[in-house]
Amino acid sequence: MRIGIQDGQLFLGFGSIQRVFDDSSLWDPLIRLADHYSAPRTHGEAAAFLERECGLSPGRAEEIVEIFRSGHYLIPAGSYRPEDRYSRPSLFYRLSGADSQEVQKRLADSHIVFLGCGGIGNLMSVTLATAGVGQVTLVDADHIEKSNLTRQYLFTESDVGAAKCEVLARELRSRNPDVEVCTIRRRMTDLSDLAALPEADLLVLSADSTGITELVNAHCVTTETAWLNVCYVNDIAVWGPLIVPGKTGCWSCRPLTAQAPSGNAELDALISCINRRYQAPSHGPTNMLSSALASLDALKYLGDFGFVQSLGRRVGVWTHELRLDEQPSIPDPDCPTCGPLQP
Ligand SMILES: [Zn+2]
Repeated sequence: MRIGIQDGQLFLGFGSIQRVFDDSSLWDPLIRLADHYSAPRTHGEAAAFLERECGLSPGRAEEIVEIFRSGHYLIPAGSYRPEDRYSRPSLFYRLSGADSQEVQKRLADSHIVFLGCGGIGNLMSVTLATAGVGQVTLVDADHIEKSNLTRQYLFTESDVGAAKCEVLARELRSRNPDVEVCTIRRRMTDLSDLAALPEADLLVLSADSTGITELVNAHCVTTETAWLNVCYVNDIAVWGPLIVPGKTGCWSCRPLTAQAPSGNAELDALISCINRRYQAPSHGPTNMLSSALASLDALKYLGDFGFVQSLGRRVGVWTHELRLDEQPSIPDPDCPTCGPLQP
């Protein structure tokens, strides 16, 4: 843990575990106890230390020990092994109070499928594979082009012309041999293509072909597979919703994207024409931001720790203005796609 004093306040830890103490009479015992816990101690030993070294009453000593015990500041003796590949993330999982060995086991037992191996597929798959997700399936029919290299960072000049999913698989295997990586070089154009996919604990949609979102939603609701939408809309980095059939609303419950006006065929046709001509301004940093936030949620969901921010909501970070936007995916009991599954 880190500890420090700023503007007349003692900060015990920072971020989600942070506690702030204005009462300076507590600073001495808190700092001394933080140091005392740098070696393996029982809580009884820690309380006795406070009574002996700081002259606290047994009740007061117990209260201070409880701050450490309940605040996710401590890890079990011997649980941090710097030589272990996953040692540093294990400390991150403990910030949420999770048993890091259990989290790592759940990740190792998980299978994640990526539909799309572009910028988001590159960044998310390498994040999940190096974090120790046991099985990764990469789905993409495209070949690498020079114009991809500004954001699809695992591809190099010498990979231009090669199949995206094969090169990405090679890169993931070279970074973590513990992970089983499979590839499917195929375009997903209808429900039968999706039905041929292997069973997974989570499917990530990081492809932007027309109509794919509705297809993936229908497939995932039918097979009761959790899926996560990740994309960017111009300069907005978007992740979510994470849809868990039977627990959250689905993509079809209510429109999450702008629609054409109903009952006006001419304007509807014009909007379709305009949108078909649209070329997405794909940019490395925006790809990275959506991928980072979506990867964190994917790890939380598969590893079952912390709070999954995109569960049942679509979140956007407006990168030019640094503000957050969100749309809940409210379950609709009459939804034609997921209605029958809802509790
Ligand atoms: Zn629905």
